[in-house]
Amino acid sequence: SGSFKDNGMTAAFTHARMVSARRVACASTGNTSASLALYAALAGFECYVFIGDGRIAFGKLSQALEYGAITLQVAGDFDACLARVRHIAEKVPRAGVYLMNSVNPFRLEGQKSIMCRVLEGLDFEPPDWIVVPGGNLGNCSAFGKAYMEMAELGLVKKVPRLAVINAAGARTLDRVFNEQGVRWQGGRFDKGRVKGEYQRMDDAGEHAHTIASAIEINRPVNLPKALRALDFMRGVVRSVDDHCILEHKALVGRCGFGCEPASAASVAGARVLLREGVIKPHETVACVLTGHVLKDPDATVQYHTGRDTKGKGHTGAHGPRPDVHIPLGTRANRPIRVADDLDAILRAMGVEG
Ligand SMILES: *Cc1c(COP(=O)(O)O)cnc(C)c1O
Repeated sequence: SGSFKDNGMTAAFTHARMVSARRVACASTGNTSASLALYAALAGFECYVFIGDGRIAFGKLSQALEYGAITLQVAGDFDACLARVRHIAEKVPRAGVYLMNSVNPFRLEGQKSIMCRVLEGLDFEPPDWIVVPGGNLGNCSAFGKAYMEMAELGLVKKVPRLAVINAAGARTLDRVFNEQGVRWQGGRFDKGRVKGEYQRMDDAGEHAHTIASAIEINRPVNLPKALRALDFMRGVVRSVDDHCILEHKALVGRCGFGCEPASAASVAGARVLLREGVIKPHETVACVLTGHVLKDPDATVQYHTGRDTKGKGHTGAHGPRPDVHIPLGTRANRPIRVADDLDAILRAMGVEG
């Protein structure tokens, strides 16, 4: 379906089949619902997706709708949606719902395979660094578990370091890890400090806010597992702002890959760490591009065109995220308006006359 969520979803559906589940559900910032809806359609499950109000990229929403998921647009943010669907799955047996969020351990088992793919791509020589965007922190947790197991089995001689990158507008892990200094400590991590951070956010009425909708999350459900992964892989955490994310998204595009905004946080974060001297110039770095470029075409078009040519204001006003301002990017590649005239067209093409 165009995101890494498929790596986990296929494993979780296998388990859902094993326990004879018939209905599956998830809360989603987009890609989980797209992946869930696709696998449900393929495997013949009834499918419910809970999405936050107005906080989903159209590429992802269109997939959920097209694959036939019953889509509930709940008036609340992602954290509210997740609380609802968890409650229904755990406390309302008559709903008969099998929960497919990344609290489902089989999804994380499937996502371990991403680390095997990186090894495959590098001739089974582990890189020095794995850099990944952090939202609900399932992916980085899975990466940590993958390396714990591969090291234990003697499949790898070296364990890469892990860098988890938050968006500046959703930097709970960054705060907890770098400001509160919370560490795994063999599972006895300081829960009070994490709670305190959540309380502070609630008191301040602070809500996650970033163009990278896939990581726009206040309370990452896999935070404990992520602390464990950071501990095992001698990890670091950083955050990058929306401008930096979009500039690096454009850079990834220019390389012929392309990705959605959240994915570019990894490349942006790697740059920050390189500048800080944490990542050394000679080191091998694998940045995980988590989602496809077509997932969020609005963000891309807004970046490249900025204000529309009639000066009627920002094109964002018509997109799904009018609340997020996108300045014209430094790699902006505007379409060139030209008359239907051969000479004008050749001039616009840069062909000398
Ligand atoms: C889900 C998602 C993330 C965040 O992954 P977590 O496992 O929740 O940390 C990042 N990028 C994309 C494109 C995603 O879909």
